[in-house]
Amino acid sequence: MPQPAPPEDPAIDLLIRGGTIATEHGLYPGAVAIAGGRIVAIGEAASLQTARETLDATGLHILPGAIDPHVHFREPGYTHKEDWETGSAAAAMGGVTTVFEMPNTDPPTATPEALAEKLNAAAKSYVDFGIYGLLAEDNLQHLESLIAGGVAAFKCFMGNTFGNLPSPSTGAMLEAFEIIAPHGLRISLHAETASIMARRQARLAASGRHDPLAHLASRPAIVAMEAVSRAALLAEWTGARVHVLHISSGDELRPLREAKQRGVDITGETCPHYLLFNEQAYHTFGSLIRVNPPVREQSHQDALWAGLADRTIDMIATDHAPHATEEKLQDDIWCADCGFTGVETQMPLMLTQVAAGRMTLNHYVKMTATAPARAFGLYPHKGVLQPGSDADIVVIDLQREDKVRSDQLQSLGSATPFDQTPTKGLPVHTLVRGVFVMKSRELIEETSGHGRPVGRIQHMPTPAPRNLETTTAAITSCGKS
Ligand SMILES: [Zn+2]
Repeated sequence: MPQPAPPEDPAIDLLIRGGTIATEHGLYPGAVAIAGGRIVAIGEAASLQTARETLDATGLHILPGAIDPHVHFREPGYTHKEDWETGSAAAAMGGVTTVFEMPNTDPPTATPEALAEKLNAAAKSYVDFGIYGLLAEDNLQHLESLIAGGVAAFKCFMGNTFGNLPSPSTGAMLEAFEIIAPHGLRISLHAETASIMARRQARLAASGRHDPLAHLASRPAIVAMEAVSRAALLAEWTGARVHVLHISSGDELRPLREAKQRGVDITGETCPHYLLFNEQAYHTFGSLIRVNPPVREQSHQDALWAGLADRTIDMIATDHAPHATEEKLQDDIWCADCGFTGVETQMPLMLTQVAAGRMTLNHYVKMTATAPARAFGLYPHKGVLQPGSDADIVVIDLQREDKVRSDQLQSLGSATPFDQTPTKGLPVHTLVRGVFVMKSRELIEETSGHGRPVGRIQHMPTPAPRNLETTTAAITSCGKS
């Protein structure tokens, strides 16, 4: 006798069934029930109630959506390169459900007023977002009001990059770390030492070097190694939490590993371009490959893969940094803008590496979702699939072959050295808090504006500031009462 169908339960909005759930630890067949934007149950489909809508994920894998702690959406100020609508659409198409967006816009996100302007632009976002506040030489008086205004983390440009924000002195960095440490927010570091690079670039340019490889020559790995070491010392002294952005060299791994061993709350990311390109890229792509820090020699690429395998590197981010094509393609390397689009291409590129056996799917989930969620205080609301979590989900097809096509990407500045790269493994559906922002490879345009700031759920562990009696605030209040 046929079993009666389970009664339709209007409390369940969506049931994803037939797929394989991938976590940082394992793979198992299972269904995911979603209601009110959250996961309400995970288990065998038969044990779950029917829902208003069912998604058949047979043959597909169900992952927590990627959390990219490093994107530049360029708005306000540089909207010919990218804006929040196009940048977050690229995220949605790339299986990225939360982004942390960088402050080198115009105006830079250095004051509460600029933060308000940034939040206004971000209202168009398809995906959830955290906003970085700027940590600069001249905005220390604004750091606390930026925290009160809801920044999710801070960005410190130890080396100059796009936007020409002067890098703070070590003195300003220390004072900023003292101010931020008691609040517990993480400080992300563009860890390249500006004074070393400026001198070398000037010497190289004066000697007539304008070729692509001059960019690499101006930024030897000591640039990054010195910056990571110095920032780690300041973090250790103050108890501030730090994150090393875009690790490009094997040499940086030593100070990172040593700081972790000393108990510093320090995390690190690398990006697909450092894992997939080497010095040959300067000959192949010319100025298109210019990025800060630079793509380095094969020995560094090998060290980065080893750093992923031994867990020294915690996560994979993108440094999504779009520019107009004419800003990228320059005869004089010093005139080419640095960086390229990335938030849409990370997942197919890295799933291709999973397919090639260079990392497991579980490790990929950890590095792109679970680890960033933990580092930035979003876990377990995000970065994991479990009852109670936000239904931020990407459904992927590990078998699907495709290629990166620059002209198909959502970014305004879609020039990328990965153009025409064959890939295996593709995000098929992306959900942000239970809502499809991409379905069957189609952007759901009416979900522009669905994204929300992460502040409502962000919860960093209890801060552990140190050497409080030596902070600038302590010594300047001495004697006053
Ligand atoms: Zn960046």
